Amino acid sequence: MTKQERALLAIQLLKEVYPDAICSLDYERPYELLISTRLAAQCTDARVNIVTEQLYKKYQSLKDFADADLAELEEYVRPCGFYHTKARDIIGMCQMLLEQYGGVLPDTVEELTKLPGIGRKTANLVVGDIYHKPAVVCDTHCIRITNLLGLTTGKDPAKVEQQLWALLPPEESNSFCHRTVLFGREYCIARRPRCEECPLASACQHYADTHDPEGNPLLAAPEKKPAKPRAKKAAAAQ
Ligand code: SF4
Repeated sequence: MTKQERALLAIQLLKEVYPDAICSLDYERPYELLISTRLAAQCTDARVNIVTEQLYKKYQSLKDFADADLAELEEYVRPCGFYHTKARDIIGMCQMLLEQYGGVLPDTVEELTKLPGIGRKTANLVVGDIYHKPAVVCDTHCIRITNLLGLTTGKDPAKVEQQLWALLPPEESNSFCHRTVLFGREYCIARRPRCEECPLASACQHYADTHDPEGNPLLAAPEKKPAKPRAKKAAAAQ
């Protein structure tokens, strides 16, 4: 199977398992997706959704965030971790959106990554989910799973993103990335992938490398026991 065929098969199988490819962050306004994604760095989406439920009631517009008191905003976002940096970035990005973009989120990765604290992953998420344009959201799930499937190599998000751009049909790329997040939580779990029950096994290079054609796991080579140190002849003679 070529990489292209493997990618198309993975897309089809993921669609069958997860017909709805939706973002797991809760938001109503476009800028809220930007803020939620910034908060999600080193934090779970579930925790971010709990925090933002109150946050978006307190701050109801870009201007509210742009004018926010830093210390007060920090307290709101503290449960998400790295709250000094995250609060500072949120105020900075909202000020920049108002001053330089007329309060409208840009629709390109290049412009979005000019905002404080916004990297390619978040920028692609906004481009795909808000503007419904082709996007590749390369998060840890996407990197791990596409490596295992045999679609990509390496852990560098920028390089994995480039490899996926070359493989995924543009109209499928954004949904594929959302589905890998759901799949990574349910089946291809870091450190304990459920390969024996995996609906993507037929598309997975790792599965092919670790199972025989009948689907039986290949036995790992037994570990060699370290050799016992030999008793010194002199000591034995005593
Ligand atoms: S077969 Fe295993 S490694 Fe491959 S995608 Fe499924 S869970 Fe992940």
